[in-house]
Amino acid sequence: MVTHLVPQFFGAVTMPLVLICGLFFFNWKLALIAALVIPFALPFSRLTKWLMKKIGTKHLKVKVTAASRMIEYIQGIKLIKAFNLGGTKFERLEKSFRDLKDLSIRVEAVPGPIIILSSAILNSGMVLIILVGFSMLLNLEVSLPVYVMFLVLGVHIYQPLMHSLMFMGEMNYMQLGVERVEQLRNTPLLSEGEGNEKFEDYNIEFRNAIFSYNNTHVIDGLNITIPAKKLTALVGPSGSGKTTITRLIARFWDLDSGEIMIGGKSIKSYQVDSLLSNIAIVFQDVYLFNDTIYNNIRIGKENATMDEIVSAAKAAQCHDFIEAMTNKYDTVIGEGGSTLSGGEKQRISIARAILKNAPIILLDEATASLDPENELHIQQAINDLIQNKTVVVIAHRLNTIRQADNIIVLDKGHVVEQGKHENLLSQKGLYYSMWEEQQRVKGWKF
Ligand code: ADP
Repeated sequence: MVTHLVPQFFGAVTMPLVLICGLFFFNWKLALIAALVIPFALPFSRLTKWLMKKIGTKHLKVKVTAASRMIEYIQGIKLIKAFNLGGTKFERLEKSFRDLKDLSIRVEAVPGPIIILSSAILNSGMVLIILVGFSMLLNLEVSLPVYVMFLVLGVHIYQPLMHSLMFMGEMNYMQLGVERVEQLRNTPLLSEGEGNEKFEDYNIEFRNAIFSYNNTHVIDGLNITIPAKKLTALVGPSGSGKTTITRLIARFWDLDSGEIMIGGKSIKSYQVDSLLSNIAIVFQDVYLFNDTIYNNIRIGKENATMDEIVSAAKAAQCHDFIEAMTNKYDTVIGEGGSTLSGGEKQRISIARAILKNAPIILLDEATASLDPENELHIQQAINDLIQNKTVVVIAHRLNTIRQADNIIVLDKGHVVEQGKHENLLSQKGLYYSMWEEQQRVKGWKF
């Protein structure tokens, strides 16, 4: 916009103004007639601006939607193929492209007639110069050379003005993009501490925590304490807020009200960088970059040496399968880790966390059923990871957390019971019924 449109626009406006001023000295009457049509064309530029804002905003919206649908289609391609929904049968993508096509045509076509009309008005200035100038010539009000000069220069008054109208249309469209960028730039930054606060302890506490997504309370007056260097498990039905709690500890979002403390101080008093460097997160849905295994593990610690990476991989039970690959640690894995099995991806993500060696571990246990060998490896890797750490684990299989120091049972964003495994079983509450159900499921056979 700045390099191409703005200079051209000003060039296109300045030249006619200078010409009209110049022509005034030769014959002010004819120059006035030449300038007469310009104010009539101006309201049209406001009309195009208004239209552009209306249609352009919609156009930008459908462009973004089409891009999102496209990404969704590519990401879900396996499922789409499996259900034979490819190509035009995937209605969501098809519709977003149709919308994009329609609006792309409208964004060009609707301002078109207005620009043509205003161009016609501007061009009529030339007709006026010819006719009025000729009659003035006959009445000897203007000399022949001056009349010819008006005819020649008249073209250079109206053509740049017509171009400026088109530039204006384009600038108005681009302005919408500028507004979107501005909106993003004006998003308030996450408030954080000055950087003086140091971590003295790693116990975590939620005090009267309330948090909602889109005005729906998900965490509802939560009061929990997660002691340092202990294993705390979060259990509860799906949607009870377990994942949200771990994300809140890492300040992915801030609470609506209440406080989260680490080491007795609000997490907002620490710098975000320092907070995150003290937390290692093992997500359930592991994401691996389209890069070497070496670089994928190194995410845990940017300046790690090869030895550190190998020992983290060994501790996470990855070393053997990495060594079996042709290029070992330099093997490039596909985007999202598509060339590795689920269990292998999990172990790489645990290796990252081991390498990071953070005092707080947030662990989302894999729900996908793993083969017994992988499950054993992952369990060993996790045991290595959580030694002497403050661990919060979201447990889906209750038999993996029987030894936890504290089990917090959640339902609809608040604590319904907590304690040790045996203790909770004897209470015969929600934990007991979940346990019983899982034991029954274990007995299922085909
Ligand atoms: P859990 O881990 O116990 O299954 P979550 O913390 O993932 O529960 O989700 C709690 C509730 O919040 C659910 O009802 C879920 O639909 C909703 N939720 C989770 N993430 C989001 C999000 N990013 N936007 C809106 N709602 C969400």
